[in-house]
Amino acid sequence: MIPESNITNIMELTKDQLISWLKDHDIETYRAKQIMKWIYFRQADDFNIMTDIKKEIRQLLSLNFTIDRLEKKQVETSQDGSRKYLFKLFDEQCIESVLIPEKNYYTLCISSQVGCAQGCRFCLTAKGGFVRNLTKGEILAQVRDIMNGLDDPEKLKNIVMMGMGEPLANYKNVVGAINTITDAECGLSFSNNKVTLSTAGLAPKLPDLNQDANVNLAISLNATDNKTRDMLMPINKKYPLEILLDACRKYRLPPRQSIMFEYILLKDINDSYDNANHLAELLRSIKAKINLIPFNEYEGSEFRQPEEDVINNFREILRKNNYIVITRRSKGRDISAACGQLRVRAAISNNA
Ligand code: SAH
Repeated sequence: MIPESNITNIMELTKDQLISWLKDHDIETYRAKQIMKWIYFRQADDFNIMTDIKKEIRQLLSLNFTIDRLEKKQVETSQDGSRKYLFKLFDEQCIESVLIPEKNYYTLCISSQVGCAQGCRFCLTAKGGFVRNLTKGEILAQVRDIMNGLDDPEKLKNIVMMGMGEPLANYKNVVGAINTITDAECGLSFSNNKVTLSTAGLAPKLPDLNQDANVNLAISLNATDNKTRDMLMPINKKYPLEILLDACRKYRLPPRQSIMFEYILLKDINDSYDNANHLAELLRSIKAKINLIPFNEYEGSEFRQPEEDVINNFREILRKNNYIVITRRSKGRDISAACGQLRVRAAISNNA
């Protein structure tokens, strides 16, 4: 959905679309690269500063396009240093992005939809329901705008699409945005292996993604049997574990890369000794890494986080089975920026 107007945010266009617009207007196609460099390398807000482009072309561009930023409604900083950005969109909807400081760099978690339609039972974002897909420009702007506000934009190294929404349910816009984020010639120049797309498991979209984009893949697995996964993640009824894991097995990976399987640890639901062994077994024939996420409790949540020793034992079983395992502690809990907690406050401030 793009606002109704003859003037388009130029960031909505793919490179090919920009090239064909230039052709239609009898302008040399190499200008596309120049324009995009100004927007993404130099953070230009105005066509007039694009001094290596003829004045008449700049004027024509200004008549037809804008270079939009998102309205930064609020920025909150957590005690652990993570920063949550609340952005207001043209239709008054709000989304959130979270900047997470690591040792020497930042990771940015971005949203792909306003709300989410997947209805995962443990996820607070899901409880707010689905509103709409983000446009390509809105996805890109989260990265471009936040980079622009950093003292050292080079420090932003990782992008994870793990904010609000299911990226593969907004396929075209997400792939368009990813391809500009990773375009080294005239996009935002992120390394392909520093951008991660996380999905709840829209299995039929995986072969397309494999073909259309080159980024890390993360799968929110969260259970080792269909009964438990059906209960936690309704998408599993459509694409059960066998189908999802088969699509993962067929996913072509660059050398030395693997698929990241995210597994929320929920007390007495999926955290047993048997579950750990079963998980090790299930992923045996896939090049897999495992990311354990101790459930992040929130007010009214029906699930609990397992005890520390249960979490450690679970991890050790997987390590003994030769998996690389990371335990991810949610950051930004005091500002509701942790996993699954986005949107709720956005909804509140939206109604304010
Ligand atoms: N829809 C995509 C992208 C969102 S990623 C997906 O499902 O992968 C959000 C990640 O946070 C998912 O791995 C999800 O399983 C996890 N998550 C959601 N709510 C959580 C909670 N309360 N505690 C810990 N992790 C949670």
